[in-house]
Amino acid sequence: MITSQKIKEIAKNLGADLCGIASMDRFEGAPAQMDPRYIFPGAKSLIMLGYRIPRGSLRGIEEGTYFINYSSMGYAGINLVYGPVVLWHLNRILEDEGFETVPVANVNGAEALNPLTGNFRKGWSMSVDGEKPHPDILIHYRIAAFCAGLGEIGYSRLFLTPEFGPRNRFNLMLTAAPLEPDPIYEGPKLCDRCMLCVKNCTTGALSKTETQKVRVAGHDLEWAKINPYACETGIKGGENGEKNPFIGDFPHQYGYGRAVEGAAGCMRTCMVHLEERGVLKVKFSEPFRTEKPWTVDHKNEDKVAAIVQSQYIEKGKTENTEVYDTYNKTSNYGNKKNASVGTRLGRDEE
Ligand code: SF4
Repeated sequence: MITSQKIKEIAKNLGADLCGIASMDRFEGAPAQMDPRYIFPGAKSLIMLGYRIPRGSLRGIEEGTYFINYSSMGYAGINLVYGPVVLWHLNRILEDEGFETVPVANVNGAEALNPLTGNFRKGWSMSVDGEKPHPDILIHYRIAAFCAGLGEIGYSRLFLTPEFGPRNRFNLMLTAAPLEPDPIYEGPKLCDRCMLCVKNCTTGALSKTETQKVRVAGHDLEWAKINPYACETGIKGGENGEKNPFIGDFPHQYGYGRAVEGAAGCMRTCMVHLEERGVLKVKFSEPFRTEKPWTVDHKNEDKVAAIVQSQYIEKGKTENTEVYDTYNKTSNYGNKKNASVGTRLGRDEE
């Protein structure tokens, strides 16, 4: 009979950085639309798998010189490529032991709840029998990670682990295997309510005073109330594009909200703070932040770096920009120059 310890050893050999196990009774009291027991009523355990977001995947955004790496290597690649492979391999092992297991990748799209607002989507789907909740159930990953003993939820709402602070992504498995659950995390407190996440959020999406409280597995949890629409705007670089140096639309082929801002407050600043406090197990030879975070002013879009001026423009090595023009339709900070992007593409201005 496979044990929790064996599962963890295998999961880590397969590439997971973290593995915790929750018993299903820890989800008692969860809203039906978020209760994993409705996905697999026969599940006896939830296996939570965590993957570090490479600190280096945030480096290019911190420097202001390389943005695609966080969206790919720090976000979509983990959720859509690396994590699912670990799930498939671990699923094979549990099936060979005779336990049906549901591999739950960190993807969304069909939920009855809007993942951004948490509201029920009227007119979206129907219950298959009038009693069960509507498809798809939206598991609250951070609460599941808490139930599996992997760490705590910070004031920022991001999950904090003692290994990586806020640099985590998760997926999970619901299994018929009756595994020994991990204790709820009771280690050193990671979030010290410094409020740097609030202060450094590009759009002020996190409230300093208003909080949300929830009781999970006999524990009272509390985190900042969020303005989800402000968070969305922040992800794209802020209301005035102060965290987005692109003039046209940032390529969004990774489908993760054009995460050009690189989680300025909730992840990067929090990580810097936790590393400075020395509370994380994974330590680095050098501090992450060596200078004040940059901001750009889109009134200066014509400004070209001196090095580019001499190496390209003065040598005539230039061409007309071909960028998507959707940016101008979705951004609040497009100025008159931005409005000309459509013309540069030869498209009709709307
Ligand atoms: S920045 Fe400070 S308050 Fe915010 S989650 Fe991190 S430790 Fe907590």
